[in-house]
Amino acid sequence: MNVQGARAVVVGMARSGVAAVELLMEQGASVTAVDQSPATNLGVVVKPQEAASFEGADLVVLSPGVPADLDLLEPVRRRGIRVIGDLELAIWFMKGEIIGITGSNGKTTTTAMTGHILQTSGIPVQVGGNIGTPPASMVKSSRAGQWNVLELSSFQLETISSFRAHIAAALNVTPDHLDRHYTFEKYAAAKARLFENQRSDDFAVLNADDPVTRGYAERAAAKTMFFSSTQQVESGAWLDAGEIVLNGQRIMLTAEVPLRGIHNLENTMAAAMMARLAGATHEQIRAAVMSFPGVEHRLEFVRDLDGVAWYNDSKATNVDATLKALAAFPRGLWVILGGKDKNSDYRPLAAAMKEKTRCALLIGAAADKIEDHLHGEVSTVKCGTLTAAVLHAHASARSGDTVLLAPACASFDQFENFEHRGREFKRLVNQLGRK
Ligand code: ADP
Repeated sequence: MNVQGARAVVVGMARSGVAAVELLMEQGASVTAVDQSPATNLGVVVKPQEAASFEGADLVVLSPGVPADLDLLEPVRRRGIRVIGDLELAIWFMKGEIIGITGSNGKTTTTAMTGHILQTSGIPVQVGGNIGTPPASMVKSSRAGQWNVLELSSFQLETISSFRAHIAAALNVTPDHLDRHYTFEKYAAAKARLFENQRSDDFAVLNADDPVTRGYAERAAAKTMFFSSTQQVESGAWLDAGEIVLNGQRIMLTAEVPLRGIHNLENTMAAAMMARLAGATHEQIRAAVMSFPGVEHRLEFVRDLDGVAWYNDSKATNVDATLKALAAFPRGLWVILGGKDKNSDYRPLAAAMKEKTRCALLIGAAADKIEDHLHGEVSTVKCGTLTAAVLHAHASARSGDTVLLAPACASFDQFENFEHRGREFKRLVNQLGRK
C-alpha cells in the first residue's frame, strides 16, 4: 500500500496513535494528529477532535481507544474517505507472517507464551499488538521469514479491512466491554473478523469448549483446529490423564505447566498448537512451556506470610476472568472484588464463591452492585479502598488461606490502570509484617 503524499488523520494520541503517526510519516504521508485533549509535544501538531480537523483528509486512522462509531466519523465516511484502525495500517507495511490471537481472556498470556516458545526454539519472532509494542511500531523491525505474534483486541479487529493472519486463534468469548460494543453479539462479531480474510492454506485455532469460538469454524475458510480441556478433539490439543495431547501425541504432563488453573492449560494448548504450526518441535514446546515465567498481574504469586498465600490477579477485569481465578484455588479464599463497573452481571460469582470463600472484600465504585448480586450467598465486607481490604485480610486470614485480588472490574475509579492497581497491591502486601 502506498501512502506517499496522502493526507492522513490519526485519531487518539496514546501509544498506538503515536506509533501510527510515526509510521505514516516514515511512509511519506502528510499527517495530522487529532485528540480530545490537544498537546504539542509529539513532533506533530495535535488538533482538536472536531469536524474541521478532518477537512481534506484522504485516510483516517483510529487508535484502538477511539470508538469506531464516533459521530464525528460519519460525515467522513460519507465523503468516501477510508477509515481504518492502527492494526490495518501496520500490516500494510509489515513483513513476515502473522500469528493473531484474540479472546476475552488469556490473550496476553497466550501471546507471551507463543512468543516465548518460538524464541527459545530459535524461530525468528517478534511479539506485540495489544500487548506491549503497538503493531505500527513493529513494522521497522519486521523481516521476511520472521513471525509477528500479535495480541488483538476486539477494538483493533473491528476496524480492519484486509488484515489476515496465517495462524489465528480465538481463545474464548465471554461478556466484556459491553459499555463500548453495546451487545454481546456485536462484541463476538468484532472478534470473528480475525478469520474473515483467512484463506484455505491458513489455520484457525479455536476453543472447542466455547460455543462462540466453536461457532467461528462454520464460517472459517482456513483449516480449523481445536483445543479443549474437557473433550477429545480430532485435530489439535486436549487433556488426557494428566497429560497434554497434541495431534495425537503426548507432549507433556499438565503438572509441568508452571501456571495455575485449567484456563492456563487452555492457553498452553493454544500456544503449543500455534508454535507447532510455526515449526517448533514437541520437545522444544515442552521445554519452553516449563521455563515460561508467566505474566505480571495474571494470577501472580506475591508472597507467603504466616502460611497465608497472597495472589495478584489485577488483570481479572471481568467476571469470567475472576471465575477462572476462583476455580484455580481450593477453599479458604479471601477475594478482593470491585472497581469500576463495566455494566457487568456479577451474579455468576455467587455460586462460584459460596463454598470456598470466607469473605468477599469489596472496594471501589461497584461495591454496592456486587454486594447486591452476591445476594447474601457470600459474606461481604465493604472496605472501600484496596489498602483497607489488604489490612482486613491480613487481620482475618488464617494459615492455609489464600488472599486473592481478582476484582472482576476495571480499575479506573481508583487507579490509573490494572497495572497500577496490581503494583499497589504488591507494595501493600510486601509491607505487611508477621503477626
Ligand atoms: P487478556 O490479555 O485477554 O486480558 P490475560 O492473559 O492478560 O488476557 O489474562 C486476563 C485475565 O484472565 C487474568 O485475570 C487471567 O488470570 C485470566 N485468564 C487468563 N487466561 C484465561 C482463559 N483462557 N480463560 C479465562 N480467563 C483467563
